[in-house]
Amino acid sequence: MDWITKRAELSGEKTAIIDIFYNRKLSYKQLDIQVNRWANIFRAYQIKKGDRVAVIAPNQAELFEIMFACGKIGAIFVPLNWRLSEEELKYILADSSPSLIVFNERYDDRVKTLAIDTIPLLSISNPPNVEITNWKWDDHKEEEPWLIIYTGGTTGLPKGVVLSYRAVTWNAINTVVSWGLTEDEITLNYMPMFHSGGINALSIPILFNGGTVVIGDQFNPVEALKNLNRYQCTIALFVPTMYHMMQQTEEFEKLDFPSMKAFVSGGAPCPFSIYDKFAAKGLPFREGYGLTEAGPNNFYISPKEAMEKRGSVGKPMMFNDVKIVDEQGKEILNNGVGELLIRGKHLFTKYWNKDQTTAETLKNGWLHTGDFAKRDEEGYFYIVGRKKDVIITGGENVYPLEIEQWLLQHEAIDEVAVVGIPDEKWGERIVAFVSLKGTDLSENELKDYCEKKLAKFKVPKAFVSVDQLPKTPVGKIDKKALMDVLSEQTEQS
Ligand code: AMP
Repeated sequence: MDWITKRAELSGEKTAIIDIFYNRKLSYKQLDIQVNRWANIFRAYQIKKGDRVAVIAPNQAELFEIMFACGKIGAIFVPLNWRLSEEELKYILADSSPSLIVFNERYDDRVKTLAIDTIPLLSISNPPNVEITNWKWDDHKEEEPWLIIYTGGTTGLPKGVVLSYRAVTWNAINTVVSWGLTEDEITLNYMPMFHSGGINALSIPILFNGGTVVIGDQFNPVEALKNLNRYQCTIALFVPTMYHMMQQTEEFEKLDFPSMKAFVSGGAPCPFSIYDKFAAKGLPFREGYGLTEAGPNNFYISPKEAMEKRGSVGKPMMFNDVKIVDEQGKEILNNGVGELLIRGKHLFTKYWNKDQTTAETLKNGWLHTGDFAKRDEEGYFYIVGRKKDVIITGGENVYPLEIEQWLLQHEAIDEVAVVGIPDEKWGERIVAFVSLKGTDLSENELKDYCEKKLAKFKVPKAFVSVDQLPKTPVGKIDKKALMDVLSEQTEQS
């Protein structure tokens, strides 16, 4: 199971990681030494098996060093989304109760305002000196937890997805085999490393297989395109919003990408306009579907098939089963739409501290994804919608309920409904419908109110004031009707 040390023995001199911003280059041997170093540092902080180590940092090589170091000593790695509000971070810290918070000095102020006197802090750039001894992976069992990745929660609060060594390793095996990754793969990673898109989707499978991960920090479309060529990348994953931004630049028109074997889009439905621009340049592009709770990778489609079957995420990978079921749990075959279920060794173990939600999501070994899908006669799968009502804006998942709950706490607001409407650049844009109790509230006042509590990307881009919200026959707010009104208004304007 201690595969980073094995990798160092097998491919010691090969480049494992290039960190662009911090200008670091690590061979597998050097990576293994850093992993042992962090493991010793954590031991100096009395971190034991099962303890959580939270990390708040931008994309940087140390995140992988720390993740593997946690693995070495049996601790659980909890990467934090620095874009979350203070309230949200406090919630996650209370929920995961880490024994140590490791932070990058960029978030010095953030960490201080969290004011958690009881949890020791450790600066990434200034750890204590320790003797570096090799850790042997002695007593680990593959079902033990390795990571907790927090994703937006349907209850309005983020949920900690617990991933075991087995889950992470089998997602890596499954991805390497089913996507045909070789040890010569070089990926460029701008996906956030607090999310499975930046960890498990491509970076970990590539490190597992002896390839190279080039880490980019803040996404900039021009730099990203240049870096694909500069580092002779072969494969990269971006969310549709990033592709949209890259395709607006002159560099996209000017440059060829001779080393690239696959541009992969994931995390949200991909607009066909993105496919068109790749097709026009003859570049290999394909869409992937995933979720933190399952790998995240579950399907494969070749770039050639992807262009013929636009919008399809392909066929199930080698080591996972999928099926589509109706509301009674009966399997639906060709072209019927139903909920997508997934089974395999790459599945998460549970939601941290949320046994009931776990039991509702994982039933008889099948993960109920909450996504609607269909399969065509030739076995290709399409994701058609989201049962769970999540809004995906710029690749970030936003749960309307969380925003609604906060708005409803405002004394002047009577009713509220938050929806996502299609947006060329962001995938979806957040719009809040509010009915007021009588007093007037301006759009700016509403925005300011939201900013007090919510991360910036969750603050609605527009507020529409209505007298009353439409209801379904059973009395629930009818969001579909609201969205129809919006699209009628857009068509007329
Ligand atoms: P996360 O766990 O944060 O990665 O979010 C997973 C969710 O993103 C899935 O449950 C889907 O709703 C959505 N998603 C991911 N990939 C796609 C895709 N290719 N098409 C449509 N939705 C997607």
